[in-house]
Amino acid sequence: MIDDLEPVALRDLKALGAPRSWQVDTSLDQLPSLTPVRGSLSAEHKGNVLAVEGELQTIVTLTCDRCLGQFNRKLSCKPSELIWLGKTPPSDFQLRESDQISEPDGLVECLDPRGTFEPRQWAFEQLSLQLPVVNRCGEDCPGPSIPSRQANHADPDPRWQALRELQWE
Ligand SMILES: [Zn+2]
Repeated sequence: MIDDLEPVALRDLKALGAPRSWQVDTSLDQLPSLTPVRGSLSAEHKGNVLAVEGELQTIVTLTCDRCLGQFNRKLSCKPSELIWLGKTPPSDFQLRESDQISEPDGLVECLDPRGTFEPRQWAFEQLSLQLPVVNRCGEDCPGPSIPSRQANHADPDPRWQALRELQWE
């Protein structure tokens, strides 16, 4: 499949007058994954805003914060986003005047209308948002290895500290 997730000029999207769609089957440099990133995304120029939506999935290999073992995690998302087309974020007045935007809170980004939309970067950002904040390999996590458990002065888990205090009372 042709990997054409290249940046596209916003003025070209405007001239198109219809949604532009991409099939996604690629790997992202910034997000190494076990399987290719697959799915689709589309972007439509609507005057003041760019409406972007997609469906993306992949499997990444993460390192458990606790046992340091590696585990695989499926990432999948169906994001949709309105990106404001302006050099600066819209004013309250512009938001009220724009009939495209019913939920100003959903508008977090803006793009220079003379710039480009980067589908690859967008896909990376959406998948990155799916990454867990804390990596746990699962319920069967064997926990920290023995040596680090014995180093109790540096034990970061407050529950162990509470246990120790109980034992010494
Ligand atoms: Zn683990």
